[in-house]
This record gives sequence, structure tokens and C-alpha cells, in this order.
Amino acid sequence: MRYISTRGGAQALAFDDAVLAGLAPDGGLYLPATWPVLDLATLTSLDYAHLTAAVLAPFAQPVIDAATLEAICTDAYRGFGHPDIAPLRPLKPGLWLLELFHGPTLAFKDFALQVLGRLFDHVLARSGQRITIIGATSGDTGSAAIEACRDRDAIEIFILHPKGRVSEVQRRQMTTVASANVHNIAIEGTFDDCQALVKAMFNDQAFRDRHALSAVNSINWARIAAQIAYYVWATVRLGAAADGVVFAVPTGNFGNVFAAWAGGAMGLPIRRLVIGSNRNDILTRFFATGEMKTGSVFPTLSPSMDIQVSSNFERYLFELYDRDPQAVRAMMTEFATAGCFHVDAAHFERCRQTFAALSLDDAATTETIARVYRESGVLLDPHSAIGVAAAEAACADGDGVPVVAVATAHPAKFAEAVRTATGVTPELPARLADLFAREERCATLPAELAAVERHIAATLAGRGAAA
Ligand SMILES: *Cc1c(COP(=O)(O)O)cnc(C)c1O
Repeated sequence: MRYISTRGGAQALAFDDAVLAGLAPDGGLYLPATWPVLDLATLTSLDYAHLTAAVLAPFAQPVIDAATLEAICTDAYRGFGHPDIAPLRPLKPGLWLLELFHGPTLAFKDFALQVLGRLFDHVLARSGQRITIIGATSGDTGSAAIEACRDRDAIEIFILHPKGRVSEVQRRQMTTVASANVHNIAIEGTFDDCQALVKAMFNDQAFRDRHALSAVNSINWARIAAQIAYYVWATVRLGAAADGVVFAVPTGNFGNVFAAWAGGAMGLPIRRLVIGSNRNDILTRFFATGEMKTGSVFPTLSPSMDIQVSSNFERYLFELYDRDPQAVRAMMTEFATAGCFHVDAAHFERCRQTFAALSLDDAATTETIARVYRESGVLLDPHSAIGVAAAEAACADGDGVPVVAVATAHPAKFAEAVRTATGVTPELPARLADLFAREERCATLPAELAAVERHIAATLAGRGAAA
């Protein structure tokens, strides 16, 4: 499979190069040149890891063979805390919860990142390269990236978080990882400061080249590809391959729901995709009006969806306009300069045939957590609650096919919000029960580029001497 850019101005790449590159040099995102077709009948009997390997196989060939993918996926999902990896739990008639929070950091990002870290290592080992992953986090992504890259031979990882501004569980999930290739930096500043520093390091060409900087952000194609697997898994588990299925997905960046859309492009019988947003409702407003318009970001109970730009939407736009890179370029240029763009009536009609969207403010989110606990005894984290509310709306005007709400985080990760809504404190799984007793490792630095670059260079030099 070759990979092409949504903006049409970059050379087509093989799988390994597309994965290492992340963003295309023309500013676009990579997509497969064609959509492979799933053979659902052969997937029914596979366990989760083997099903993921089978979904990834056509995307990775001929660069990575099937046996290597099976080994990578088996290892990636070994550390998950549930034998089904992605269990489906019935919530009420016609409505299921797809629990994607049994990974090492208790959020769905583990599904893709556990595979991505191993893919990086495999590809780099073959070429003898080493890379330095640098990222900023407001909480969830940092710990998932660290867990994915820890102990990988060819990778050093530095994660910047705003000092004192992430929850204690989130901080400890990052700083208690004892692996020598993991480096945490608490920045005396905000999340925006952290992001600006990371951006500045990537823009410092000399620094970037000297240390082979790379990123694992959500625009990486391999992350989307690995996420397609759980939509396939849920569909075959429900025996819905013939009749169709609806997925409700809490999303901010459009990454998770685009993976569901991609499953549809590969042959999953998806009737409808329902997007759940919080007060940061740029996507909900788009699906109501056809206009994508950024605003300011408000902090909410579901912080992993507090964004104002849904970067993965560009992939859907490319498909909506029948893979016309010129149309995408025009809209993205308008978005960058004016902060908004819109799609014409005919294309908007097509969007609405596939997608519906619902946004919940914090009060409605809390109410949903409380009500679902009352009705079914299930504790939902705020992100998952938004997904369930979106799924319930789909059930209400649905056509009787199964509706699956995607649960993206474990309730114990957002214990305070869950306790406020239900009076119950969700417990951390046993494998994380000693999180508060583990030793932390973290540097503290001012929000100054020179200081951060100096620290990273010195740390890498020390690691090189040790290796
Ligand atoms: C990252 C995240 C999301 C949003 O994912 P998208 O990539 O924006 O679709 C939702 N819930 C949780 C718990 C997350 O960590």
C-alpha cells in the first residue's frame, strides 16, 4: 500500500515512511491510496490481537509481513487488563458499551499507541536509526505515549506537561515509569506554553535534525489504522455484519470517529456515526450548519476533548470531495487564514447521511453519569458519558440495528467527576493500585526554549554515553 497526502503536493510513500513522517511535507495528512476490503467472515474467529493484525496487514504490506504484525499486536495487547481486550457490555436493549479503557493508561489511546511504539521500533531497528519523540500533554496523551515507548530500543521520549496543572493520577502515570528512555519535564507554565515549546523545537531545524525528532500525535496514519480494528471487532462480535450497526463516539480531534468511517470504507455495514462533543462543539456546529468555525477553548469535565481544531477532519473532507486535493487545499487555506470554511449544500447533504452529532455541557454530562449509574449500575467517565448520551439519541430515532457507545476512559481516571455525579468513588484497577506509592522522576524547567533544548541535549548525551 502507498500513502498519499490530502493536499496532493507530496510524494506517495510506503507504510514505514508514512508512519515515521506523521504529517506530510505539504501540510496534508496521509491516507492509503485505496481502501482495502475486509473479509468479515474470516475475521469472526480471531482473538483481538490477531484481528488487529489482519486489519493492519493490507495497510502495512509489503513493508511488514503478516507474521511480524501478529507478533507486534500480540505483544501490544498482552498488558491489557481484560481477557477480551475490548469487551462489549450490554447497557440496555439495543445499546452496548465498547470498553476501550483496559490498557496500561486506562484510555483508548493505548489501543493505537501500544502498536505504534512497537512499529516504530521494528522499522527503526531495520534501518539502524534512533529517534527522539517529543510531545506536550495536558494529561492523557502523555502517559499513553510514554507507556507505548518505554523500553523501546530505538526511541528516547520526552514529554512536557504544565507543572501543577495535570491531575495527580495523570502526573503519576507519567513520572513513575522507571524506564531509562523515558524523560518527563514539568514546565513552569501552561499547556499552551508546553505546546509552543514543542513546536519551536520542531521548527529549530538544526536541533530537529541533530536529535532526529519525531512525534506520535493523532494525525499519524498508524494510529487511525490500529483504531479501525475495534470497530471491526465490535461489528463481528454483535453478529451485525449483515444488518448494520451504529457507533456513537466521543471525539474532539475527529481521529477516533474517522477510524470508524474508515471501517465503513472497508466494508463494515455502518448505518450512522454519532459524534459526541462537550461544550467545545466545533464538530457539532459543523454537522448542524455545514460551517467549520473555530472559537475559544473552554475547560470541561472531559478535558481530552477540549480542542478547537479537529485535525483529522481533513481526512474526511478529502473523501467527501472524492479525493480532490485542490478542494481540500482551498478549504484548509481558508481555515488557516479566516478561522472558518464551509461545505456546499450537496456535500453537506452527504455528510448528514453518514453523521449525526450531539453536544453536552458539563451539567448534562454529570446528569448522564448519574442516570446511567442509577439505571444500570455502570460507572461512566465524563467522555464515555457523552458517547452514551449520543448513542441514546441514536437509539431514539434509530431503525433497530445495534447501537454501540464507545467508552474511551476508565471512570477511575476521572474519579472526581464520577464521585460528584454518583457519590461513588471508582477504584483504580489492581495493577495500578500502588500508583501513589511509586517513586516519581521528573525535571522542572522554565518555559524557555534554550533551557529545554539544553536539558534535552544533555540528557541524550548522557544516554548515548551509557548505551
Ligand atoms: C483523546 C481522547 C478523546 C478524543 O479522541 P479523538 O482522537 O479526538 O477522537 C476522547 N476521550 C478520551 C478519554 C481521550 O483520551
